[in-house]
Amino acid sequence: MMVGTVSYVDLPKFKVEVPNSIEDALELLHNHQANCKILAGGTDLLVDLRHRLIQPSVVIDIKNILELKKLEFTENGLQIGAAVSISEVLKLPQLKTHYTALYQALNDMCDEILRSRATIAGNIATASPAADTAGPLYVHQAIISVKSHSRGSRMILINDFFKGVKKSILDPDELIVSITLPSISKDTKSAFIKMKRGVEDLALVGVTGAHNHQHTFLAYTAVAPTPIFLDISMYITNNKISEDLFQSIWKDVLTKINPISDVRSSKAYRIHISEILTRLVLKEIIA
Ligand SMILES: Cc1cc2nc3c(=O)[nH]c(=O)nc-3n(C[C@H](O)[C@H](O)[C@H](O)COP(=O)(O)OP(=O)(O)OC[C@H]3O[C@@H](n4cnc5c(N)ncnc54)[C@H](O)[C@@H]3O)c2cc1C
Repeated sequence: MMVGTVSYVDLPKFKVEVPNSIEDALELLHNHQANCKILAGGTDLLVDLRHRLIQPSVVIDIKNILELKKLEFTENGLQIGAAVSISEVLKLPQLKTHYTALYQALNDMCDEILRSRATIAGNIATASPAADTAGPLYVHQAIISVKSHSRGSRMILINDFFKGVKKSILDPDELIVSITLPSISKDTKSAFIKMKRGVEDLALVGVTGAHNHQHTFLAYTAVAPTPIFLDISMYITNNKISEDLFQSIWKDVLTKINPISDVRSSKAYRIHISEILTRLVLKEIIA
């Protein structure tokens, strides 16, 4: 294990640990608890450090852990290790055809340089209400595999993961090991559309949908303290959505979303865009 002390002019002082195994990372998390932070791509973490929003005494860089770099597409689904960069996930040939919504979200995230560092695990661990990967993970019902030194492994359904603005179900000593998207039925169609102000800005609103013969799901980002999930299967008959039916779905959506007004947009505009994007996503996923 490599140990070093990093001291930059514009960053607080902290010690960097670079474990080579999950067990070593878990031991470090166990020993330092809330005084340490995991660094995957660092694209959220370094911003928080620079702004002194967090001042951990130890930063654990997990990019050297081979077990976290597993990226596997099998008949059981897609398993994405916590240290796999978004660029690497995008290279997977089956991503666009099988998990279209995730492909669309990743392809439009940050820029090429950031995508070569940033991870999906880091995106959800930050627990921003605007996390682009959250919608696709919801509609594909992803399972988050988590480990800790003292309590072992647990599997968390994405629906249970987000607890508030920048708050997740994770305890300070827990490490996301991988994210699994279960295999999809052949007739599944999914789509992700977001509205943003510029190339490198977070979404004003993000809408994701997935539909097959068994279910129809919608997910929303940046319109509530956490990403929002809706099962709208009961509305869908004959693979068609009439205006009356859309109005019923939209009424349901309005009971769940509660956007704020901020520098990016007013609340009213976010609601307006949510309705437009919902129509577009439903058009994409339902023939
Ligand atoms: C210019 C810019 C543009 C951006 N654009 C977008 C965008 O378009 N859409 C979007 O959603 N986000 C965007 N982001 C935010 C960020 O890039 C993403 O959230 C990214 O996916 C974070 O991943 P990371 O690997 O860099 O996380 P890190 O910064 O390494 O970590 C983020 C947080 O997660 C924790 N963490 C990381 N890995 C684990 C793990 N395995 N287990 C437990 N906790 C963990 C860290 O301790 C930290 O608290 C942008 C950021 C910047 C700076």
